[in-house]
Amino acid sequence: MPVILLVEDEAPIRDMVRFALSRAGMEMLDAGDVPQAEQILATRRPDLILLDWMLPEESGMELLRRLRRDEDRKDIPVIMLTAMAEEEQKVRGLELGADDYITKPFSPPELVARIKAVLRRATGADASGQISTGALVMNTITHEVYCGDKRVELGPTEYRLLKFLLSHPGRVYSRGQLLDYVWADAYAPEERTVDVSIRRLRKALEPGGCDSLIRTVRGAGYVLSRSKDGA
Ligand code: CA
Repeated sequence: MPVILLVEDEAPIRDMVRFALSRAGMEMLDAGDVPQAEQILATRRPDLILLDWMLPEESGMELLRRLRRDEDRKDIPVIMLTAMAEEEQKVRGLELGADDYITKPFSPPELVARIKAVLRRATGADASGQISTGALVMNTITHEVYCGDKRVELGPTEYRLLKFLLSHPGRVYSRGQLLDYVWADAYAPEERTVDVSIRRLRKALEPGGCDSLIRTVRGAGYVLSRSKDGA
């Protein structure tokens, strides 16, 4: 279930968005201002942030600027929400790294469609929902995974873990980071949980030879090789 963080000070809009997201099968975390959003971001990694521009403490722009400078959080997609239709503001938001922009008032179906489009781009999936590296291919719509012509059967945790790694190839993640990003909802998981899932994942990928794409980086964590790095 995609997790969306909404940063918005107007309660009626929060209620409308919460309703629209729950109908679309998404979970919403909500913050009324930037400090609250920072508090949530300290422990959760949303799949996308809906960020209002005009907020009471700091503006949404300030948060966006910080996110884009932060190594761990710069990849989180952001859709700016604003009442300001001025072209100049829009250009500024996009320059700062917003992924899209919605002008208020917007309709729930429009919002959900924009979120889905940005999420598809963010995972690196193409229009058919496919993400791949080398012989390893995941379809994020049908949840099917293939290594070459071998179908790979994965449990839900290993699927989420592989999807995360496939969406960020070539980047090393520590066990702690993977716990935050992949196991965000689980109750106090331990770091060895990650090792257990990596072992299961490699075993499932072994028949087609894709297990070697997942490399252990000593003292650092795990990385999924880009196809050009060889496997
Ligand atoms: Ca506002």
